[in-house]
Amino acid sequence: MMILLIFILNTCLISTLMCLNDRLTHHVSLWRQRSFCFHCGHVLSGYDLIPILATCLTLGRCRYCQYKFGWHYGCLEFLGGLIGTWLFFEPRLWVTALLLFFMAIEDWALQRIHANLLLPWLVYLSWVHWAQTQLLIAGILGLACLFLIYCRQAMGSGDLPVLLTLALVTSATTLPLTLLLSAMLAYSYLRLKNAKSAPFVPFLLLGWLLSLGIEKAITVTL
Ligand SMILES: [Zn+2]
Repeated sequence: MMILLIFILNTCLISTLMCLNDRLTHHVSLWRQRSFCFHCGHVLSGYDLIPILATCLTLGRCRYCQYKFGWHYGCLEFLGGLIGTWLFFEPRLWVTALLLFFMAIEDWALQRIHANLLLPWLVYLSWVHWAQTQLLIAGILGLACLFLIYCRQAMGSGDLPVLLTLALVTSATTLPLTLLLSAMLAYSYLRLKNAKSAPFVPFLLLGWLLSLGIEKAITVTL
């Protein structure tokens, strides 16, 4: 029962983060109270906002104008619910995953992120990891990123706080795997789409979650 409640809580949080991202993407005030369809403007009822279920019942369409907003809302709510439940009992990982999920969908939609939202979390993590290996690794990684951003223009400045956050919540052995998997995923995407650039935060999040899963699977096996 407890796990089900945690799953529902996480689906609601994921749904809210996607709603906030939609409002930012469409330049709509975050403080407008009721959710509405971005295509016809109709105010959504409570039924339209139930995570996962609403997408299934409406077949990914607006009930009022039949605009097809897609199945990805329901799929992300379901996946986010599962991952959030998995990480819920490790608060630092859980909060990081939620923050990076918001950054990832923002980066995917706009190719830019509100990276400054991560700063309070970075300050907290630096304080928690003071005098620990992770802080040293984050510092070295930060210097390498600054070189890539300002000398080589090889990455966006928004990726820096994301990478520092990952360095502070990930063990020294798992961080290289995270970076390797993220780079491989991003490279595969570029080859598949025949594109020259890609939003990197979604691949960082995916690479980090995969490496966490591998780390936990190895820990359980040993
Ligand atoms: Zn509509």
